[in-house]
Amino acid sequence: RAKQGGRGNVRFFEPQMDLELQARKALEYDLRQALLKDELELHYQPLIDLEAQKVSAVEALLRWRHPSRGLVSPGEFIPLAEETGMIISIGEWVLRTACQQALSWPGLRVAVNLSPVQFRHRELVDTVKQVLEDTGLEPGRLELEITESVLINDTEAALDILSALKGIGVHIAMDDFGTGYSSLGYLNSFPFDKIKIDKSFVTTLEDKVKSLAIVRSVIGLSESLSMTTTAEGVETMEQAMLLLGEGCKQVQGYFFGRPVPALEMTAFLGNWQGFTVLKSLKTDAA
Ligand code: C2E
Ligand code: MG
Ligand code: MG
Ligand code: MG
Repeated sequence: RAKQGGRGNVRFFEPQMDLELQARKALEYDLRQALLKDELELHYQPLIDLEAQKVSAVEALLRWRHPSRGLVSPGEFIPLAEETGMIISIGEWVLRTACQQALSWPGLRVAVNLSPVQFRHRELVDTVKQVLEDTGLEPGRLELEITESVLINDTEAALDILSALKGIGVHIAMDDFGTGYSSLGYLNSFPFDKIKIDKSFVTTLEDKVKSLAIVRSVIGLSESLSMTTTAEGVETMEQAMLLLGEGCKQVQGYFFGRPVPALEMTAFLGNWQGFTVLKSLKTDAA
């Protein structure tokens, strides 16, 4: 292979690390431009209250419309944004855009994901206050999603931040519950408004007895602590049925609606008729 043309030699002996580093640097360079070039966009996915059969919230999910790579998902650039600190400005943009957008969906709550890096940033609470003030969104209509990882290192500090956020009047949800270092102590020492059961449990609900047991106990636990439970990643009617039967309050997943741009979400909301399928299932179960 090294014989194929003189230029190939250099490439051939280049250590893999350098290539990875180059790719990373290129991505970093592009990401620095993304905000300025207006390449970031938010998609929204509905959260459905099973009991009322209505969409009560939407989760804002970040996308990067890269000029040559196409639509890049957050898993591919958020880690880099976190490592470089860019997540602070990107995160503020997300917050502002989501709150602004929520104004055109009266009565709906908007959920925004917070990176642990944002969570630890000393200006977080002020930023949230400022964005709410600037946009005029009622604080109760904003829900901030955090993961367990923000609680593990300095629980005291984390609880102070969470209390300050609660003081503003925003809702707090624990995202991806069950995947991290879940501690019941966290739930006890801080009253989250909502627990989102990670999709890994929902996906395996039908074939893993353990998943059902876990889902059942999380629902029971959050019920007794006066929190809402949302099941993430609901893709089939069977899963929705099971969750309904277990008393899960809220669901989110491709079965109900995929993340879509704001305009499409507006259309989705306008067309929403509830789920007759679920309605009849409920009467059957009763
Ligand atoms: P998440 O907050 O747990 O969001 C749910 C993820 O599951 C989303 O992936 C969503 O598209 C996907 N999902 C929803 N329903 C289904 C389903 O039925 N089946 C399957 N297989 N997947 C489903 P996405 O949009 O790729 O986001 C991945 C993660 O990136 C998010 O997980 C969140 O942790 C992070 N993220 C997204 N947007 C932001 C943001 O604005 N800021 C920060 N810091 N993180 C974000
Ligand atoms: Mg989330
Ligand atoms: Mg999640
Ligand atoms: Mg996640």
